[in-house]
Amino acid sequence: MIHQSIPEKPLMCLGIESTAHTVGVALASSKGEILTNVNAVYTAPMGQGIHPREAAQHHCEVIPIVLRRVIDNLDGLDAVDCIAFSTGPGLGPVLRTGATFARALALWLEKPLVPVHHAIGHIEIASLMTGAEDPLVLLVSGGHTSIAAFGDGFWRVYGETEDITLGNLLDVFAREAGLSFPGGAVIEDLAKKGQNYIELPYVVKGNDVSYSGLLTAALKRLKEGHGIEDVCFSLQEVAFSMLTEATERALAHTERKEVLVTGGVAANERLQSMIDSISRDHGVEAYVVPKEYSGDSGAQIAWTGILAFQSGVQVDVEKSFVKPKWRLDQVRIPWR
Ligand code: ATP
Repeated sequence: MIHQSIPEKPLMCLGIESTAHTVGVALASSKGEILTNVNAVYTAPMGQGIHPREAAQHHCEVIPIVLRRVIDNLDGLDAVDCIAFSTGPGLGPVLRTGATFARALALWLEKPLVPVHHAIGHIEIASLMTGAEDPLVLLVSGGHTSIAAFGDGFWRVYGETEDITLGNLLDVFAREAGLSFPGGAVIEDLAKKGQNYIELPYVVKGNDVSYSGLLTAALKRLKEGHGIEDVCFSLQEVAFSMLTEATERALAHTERKEVLVTGGVAANERLQSMIDSISRDHGVEAYVVPKEYSGDSGAQIAWTGILAFQSGVQVDVEKSFVKPKWRLDQVRIPWR
């Protein structure tokens, strides 16, 4: 008699991202595959920051189109086992737009609803893509600047910004300097052409960094007549060195054997080279999330949704409130 084992069908999670500029829908499987990842970005008018209500309106308009593109790659939504959504942190109006959409889908399809912390999404998609197992994480984005390591069921924060985030520093500097949004990549290009270092304030307090004084000083240097390329170069050198110093200290303290850089600013080559350099000094492995997954995406929510759902995490639709101020170190992680 021939025994044929029937391969178990992998779980499928539809993930919905909607915390800030990006609205995204993606499909991930429990085999660690990102099957589809479709994202759309709201752009504020030139010279202005994100307007939460207008961003929510944008997400509302495009999310059905984004979902349609995901469904077109599927045999049908019946293949989906759960719906995950970014629950926080983020801007209230945009969070509520994504959450409403996720709730409606969960009710319509009669599938479980899985809450996902957006920053955990950045960490898990980076771990999946790089193979990092138990890293010291440097999470750098528009909403986060945190150095964290996992222990006893939670991500423990060893260092963070005391005021604005690294992404915010770059974006606000770019906006005030008349550069396009988002500012990080534009500043990186200009910095590559800078040659002269201009003195700027370097503020590390214990294991935390502070960027607001650096922002003011960099804008002042521009007004004083220094060239934009030199100011961008100096801004990057100081901002990234501060964070690299704090990361190095956390590395020595936690004795982790891996460093993982994730979030939108992880795409920056100068930051990557600084982290690479301290990693070599300490004999640890440095990993960087691939550029495709460094910024916000549905993929980070879909994949983390799989991990959470497999561990029994889900929420009743009636209790699925968004959490605009949800901190990374408040989330119990049952799957690590
Ligand atoms: P969060 O994910 O914490 O909610 P967010 O939604 O603003 O915040 P991301 O999409 O992860 O964050 O990252 C966006 C940030 O990444 C922006 O501040 C942008 O300027 C920055 N960024 C993108 N590319 C680069 C780059 N090459 N160099 C530096 N910064 C970059």
